[in-house]
Amino acid sequence: MVLGHESAGIIVEIGTAVTSLKAGDRVAMEPGVPCRYCRYCIEGKYNLCLNMKFAATPPYNGTLTKYYVLPEDFCHKLPENVSLEEGAVVEPLSVAVHACRKAGIKPSTSVVVFGAGPVGLLCAAVAKAFGASKIINVDIQQSRLDFALKYAATNTFLPSKDGNAIENAKAIIEQNDLGDGADYIIEASGAPSSVFTGIHVARPNATYVQVGCGNDVVEFPIIQMGCMELNVKGCFRYGPGDYNLAIGLLRDQKVSVKELITQMVSFKDAQKAFNDVKNGKGIKTIIKGVEVQ
Ligand SMILES: [Zn+2]
Repeated sequence: MVLGHESAGIIVEIGTAVTSLKAGDRVAMEPGVPCRYCRYCIEGKYNLCLNMKFAATPPYNGTLTKYYVLPEDFCHKLPENVSLEEGAVVEPLSVAVHACRKAGIKPSTSVVVFGAGPVGLLCAAVAKAFGASKIINVDIQQSRLDFALKYAATNTFLPSKDGNAIENAKAIIEQNDLGDGADYIIEASGAPSSVFTGIHVARPNATYVQVGCGNDVVEFPIIQMGCMELNVKGCFRYGPGDYNLAIGLLRDQKVSVKELITQMVSFKDAQKAFNDVKNGKGIKTIIKGVEVQ
């Protein structure tokens, strides 16, 4: 794989038919270009396109390169008050926007987000921007929870190692005064135990969105899902309007991603960036573009 799918850049050259952009414009680059003709594209679900060309997903090369070619409408112009670095984080922010839109988060509701990695943190931030009043980040690393509480969560939960998934769900409900359970569950960890706890933390008729990708097969409390009439939804990347909304949230300062950018390295030091990420250092490391000679 030639890596890179979270990126922003500066337009160097445009095609003759391009009208909305010019050289020098700063843009967030949407990395997946759909075919626009298949059933799913026509239905407005282009993230499910059967012929998607997604950067860094073989056989397509990634955006970690000096120049990259994209259709006009997949280059999203950044507002004056949004930096290129923040522009690169629009990609995972769009994943969170898609998840929260799929959940249909309404004001003054409760959301439990499993996982406090970048996507889990961003889901909490978008849930807050959508008006949720109780946002609980769940993770097995206390350091991540400490960050989550400073970032967007109103509360956090560290699952007890010896407690079972149902006991953890009860504890989340009790500690956060969730009554019958949470209104929305966003599973952004992919951990089997989180899936199990997530279903049990949901109130009747709640919405559960699966964002995390972990084990292919998990033990699933299907009776609970059925009897509580839970609305369980899949969630994959992002679709029409998600990039625009993500950029709008940054422009209007409803969501901040600056805190997530913990390191910036030059292109020639990219190897260091990969090593640091591999060793769990920081949250988001930005690799700067190749210097244009
Ligand atoms: Zn398509």
